[in-house]
Amino acid sequence: MMTDRIYGEIPGNPTGTSYASRREAATAGVHRPLQAGICGGPDGAESVVVSGGYVDDFDNGDEIIYTGQGARDPDTRLQVANQELTRGNLGLARNCLEGLPVRVVRGHEGESTLSPVSGYRYDGLFYVADYWQEIGKDGYRIWRFRLVSSAPQPSNSRATTSVPASKQQLRQGNIEVERSADFRKSARIVRDLHDHTCQVCGLRLQTPAGPYALVVHIRATTAPHYGTHAIDNLLCLCPNDAVRFSTGAVYIDEACMVRESDTGKTLGKLRVRPNHKVDCEHIRYHREHYSGAAER
Ligand SMILES: [Zn+2]
Repeated sequence: MMTDRIYGEIPGNPTGTSYASRREAATAGVHRPLQAGICGGPDGAESVVVSGGYVDDFDNGDEIIYTGQGARDPDTRLQVANQELTRGNLGLARNCLEGLPVRVVRGHEGESTLSPVSGYRYDGLFYVADYWQEIGKDGYRIWRFRLVSSAPQPSNSRATTSVPASKQQLRQGNIEVERSADFRKSARIVRDLHDHTCQVCGLRLQTPAGPYALVVHIRATTAPHYGTHAIDNLLCLCPNDAVRFSTGAVYIDEACMVRESDTGKTLGKLRVRPNHKVDCEHIRYHREHYSGAAER
């Protein structure tokens, strides 16, 4: 059965609204479950509570690294098994793929100076910019989500309507839309070395304005991955394969073969050029954090 989710603001509950308890926030419709940290399912997630309950959480104000739900001992709060990409975790992943906003509620249990002194506070809409899996501090696999505030820049609120195209792409996994000079320079080198030809499928997409290819980071540059713009951390890909790689639908194995996460099927060898070697450590990082291979 489909839940009638509300993505976005709840009328009468602007950013900064306080609630004395989880029940009060639930009654307002801002975060409906009384226990779960994520209000979501396979169709998407509408809200999360950031309460500092997970040792791996990280809150930087505009950017939150949020740990998924599940497999935690209710008494010790320790992780006791691997988390799965199901329920609310799957919901947050769908938000990332579809560009859906998620309401963020901060709780007083949060260790951060950003948390309210008591009760709960609605802190606005965030977007899920990226998600991946890793081994948490307790030794089990956890799912992590990079939530980025959608708060408009104060001086130029009109400008936000002209930005969405790039913002939207930014939200779709780690597809790089960064416009820094360092990235532009490296991206141009990589496109030239491959003559705009996809390193996975060999497609050279021709448009009326010339060839088109995306350059993506193998290891994202954002926290907590901290990859670089060096060309050994970049791939030249067609749009389809850029999405497949950044979402982990395909990965590259130890033998430099491109494989499908779903089936493990080999799609062929990664196309390389003499002057463009990729760093195997970055490839391994991507495989372990983004692909289904990590679960096999
Ligand atoms: Zn391709």
